[in-house]
Amino acid sequence: MLQGCLVFAKQKVIVIDTGHGGKDSGAIGVNYLQEKKVVLDIAMEILTLNKTIFENRFDIYLTRYTDTLISLSDRTKLAKALNADVFISLHCNHANNSSAKGVEVYVPNSSSRFTDGAIELGLAVLNESTINLGLKNRGVKIANFQVLRDSNLHYPSVLFEMGFISNTDEANYFLKFKSSKAMALAILMGTSNYLNTGL
Ligand SMILES: [Zn+2]
Repeated sequence: MLQGCLVFAKQKVIVIDTGHGGKDSGAIGVNYLQEKKVVLDIAMEILTLNKTIFENRFDIYLTRYTDTLISLSDRTKLAKALNADVFISLHCNHANNSSAKGVEVYVPNSSSRFTDGAIELGLAVLNESTINLGLKNRGVKIANFQVLRDSNLHYPSVLFEMGFISNTDEANYFLKFKSSKAMALAILMGTSNYLNTGL
């Protein structure tokens, strides 16, 4: 007999770190598109898709919702205070070689009990964005970025480079609203796959 103790799983907390902002525009694209704007558009779209397609399945927070600069330490302080299940920092890539293109994920370079999770999360996001969006897969790499270093003892964290705005094709890709929406969906689907909730 059921003892009347239905347990509802806690909603997973996703923190999206909206890179750069304010006086820090990040990289500037060949088409003058600013990295800070690309990442904010995609982060806001992730919030929208969580409401519409995912019916608010996740509890999602952004490190910034407007064009303002947040310190790197405040970004991870927020994620720790929210007890984040995952932390995804969004960026656009830039290279002197204008033919460099594709998406890549960085994970922390120190090991912790969350390192394997970070790699799995990174692979899940890469799979969605390369298979579904047709972008080149540059793989999972390790780096000593502050937001990853400060996260690694607390939750799986990745820094996602969503394409090169120094490449004409990829810079123009981000000019289109439907591309931002597709990228946002790929990030949310990949994260959902990692968190194992399915759609
Ligand atoms: Zn950046």
